[in-house]
Amino acid sequence: MKKIKKLPARNEVPHADTWDLSSLFADDAAWEQAFRKWERRIPGYQRFCGQLASDPATLAACLRFDCDLDRWGERLGGYAYLKAAEDQADSRYQAMLARFQNVATRAGEAASYIRPEILAISAAKINQWCEAKELKPYRLMLQRILRYKKHTLGKREEGLLAMQGEMAQTASKTFRQLHDADLKFGSITNERGEQVELGNATFLQVLQSPQRSVRRAAFTQYYQQFQAHENTLAATLSGSIHTDAYYARARGYDSSLAAALFPDNVPQAVYDNLIQAVHRRLPAVHRYYDLRRRKMRLRDLHHYDTYVPILTEQSTRHTWDEAVQLVLGALHPLGGEYTAALERGLCARWCDRYPNRGKQSGAFSSGSYDGDPYILMNYKPDVLEDVFTLAHEAGHSMHSYYSARQQPFQYYNYTIFVAEVASTFNEQLLCQHLLQQADDGPRRAYLLNREIDSIRATIVRQTMFAEFEKITHEMAESGRPLTVQTFKEVYRQLLEQYFGPDFALDDELALECFRIPHFYRAFYVYKYATGLSAAIALSRRVLGGGAQELNGYLNFLQAGCSKDPLDLLRDAGVDMASPEPVETALSHFEQLVAELDRLL
Ligand SMILES: [Zn+2]
Repeated sequence: MKKIKKLPARNEVPHADTWDLSSLFADDAAWEQAFRKWERRIPGYQRFCGQLASDPATLAACLRFDCDLDRWGERLGGYAYLKAAEDQADSRYQAMLARFQNVATRAGEAASYIRPEILAISAAKINQWCEAKELKPYRLMLQRILRYKKHTLGKREEGLLAMQGEMAQTASKTFRQLHDADLKFGSITNERGEQVELGNATFLQVLQSPQRSVRRAAFTQYYQQFQAHENTLAATLSGSIHTDAYYARARGYDSSLAAALFPDNVPQAVYDNLIQAVHRRLPAVHRYYDLRRRKMRLRDLHHYDTYVPILTEQSTRHTWDEAVQLVLGALHPLGGEYTAALERGLCARWCDRYPNRGKQSGAFSSGSYDGDPYILMNYKPDVLEDVFTLAHEAGHSMHSYYSARQQPFQYYNYTIFVAEVASTFNEQLLCQHLLQQADDGPRRAYLLNREIDSIRATIVRQTMFAEFEKITHEMAESGRPLTVQTFKEVYRQLLEQYFGPDFALDDELALECFRIPHFYRAFYVYKYATGLSAAIALSRRVLGGGAQELNGYLNFLQAGCSKDPLDLLRDAGVDMASPEPVETALSHFEQLVAELDRLL
């Protein structure tokens, strides 16, 4: 019998391979003490309630108090969250996290009067107050709140909207229950003859099977369930879209899309440019599918043939220390200060390295204002993708590192719109670095294929989703019916455009629109596409430029959220309001496809 290697228990993991959380709290007892103190301070919110319109000093004192409590909360929550991630079966830390969340909710409730009170102060008065010395640190924060003034209703209407918050979740909750719990997909026999239970998590794994009959069977069997529930799924998706449309209308936005772009202050041109730029380059995407079909020696290419790598991964092995050195070498263009700080951090145990029993899967970076920017990994030395993951998470952590050093607490935390720029920028540098080292052999081809598929998945596919969201919301807003048929028609048309005339589109694929959880959080995925486009444009700028280009990028990392996302990126050298960055990314894609074609 084959012996299965068991993962170590958390307490068996060598100390040096774990993170050192002492920058947050020395130990659990220190956390406990700070937690109690924090909890005791919550009633302190009361003394400002109803007073914010009286004078700048009171408003400033309230904001200072609120930021201070937030900052404590971030540190306490960070420690509890990271401890809980170490071993999810350890009830001590699950309890710690639950206690934290409970008190954080109470703190949120105690602070909930702040925004409405500020919004009730006249714009003229607030603008005048912002000149006061004590309010200077909060000027941008106040301006950001005041932007919402024209979309804020009267007290009674706001109360009614708040009351229906729970009901508004019904469509997405119903979808999640059906998708995550009630749908049963059965099991499938994989290429090694093993029975694998088919589910949302294993579906993509099985689609990477080198054996086509396995991929095809998984595809057919998986979509049978969506077919069987298509009426329910169309109803939940339509419900979610109508909810978005209702709130946008109630608050006086021009559309659901306008409402979704409002928090980042992103003009709709960014969204439209993205879709148009991708459309212009679709012939290159179609050429890639043809290349894939030829290299896989298939007569026709189906969707279930698009996830398996064209080449099998070259056997590689990087110990942890080698991976760190490889990443540091790749990030060399970012300058000695960046790489030295990262190296110091990794030596000082920012990172929890390997899997253990009960540890949270995947990887993440968790920055905080007062502690180190920690990284959770489940590193496997024989998986090259894990080296990319390390570069990615290091990008997030260094972003936190720089912004926490340069910004006050209220402006340090970067938004999602820019977050994935710093991480995928590092992946770009690692890819360039590895390509430089690789000769024209299979390793180079593997790297090119990896990069092509990642651009396709992040820019092309997410843009198709973004376009579907735009079309279906416009349909709801103009009173056109959203039914099983109309959803599938819209989706099928997009599939035809994005996959091209020579792609073998199976009818089932139109059901894909009923299985994407992101559609229940509309107008979010476009940020993946703009993020990677910006990262590709910026990394090329830094690699091809000099001190000015590098400083532009480092300043971006230091800027946190001290400006709107588009302004931060513009300062660094990319204008996301123009189609240029997306076009640069896609012409890069075209070059990669051409090179891979020559190589194989
Ligand atoms: Zn990320």
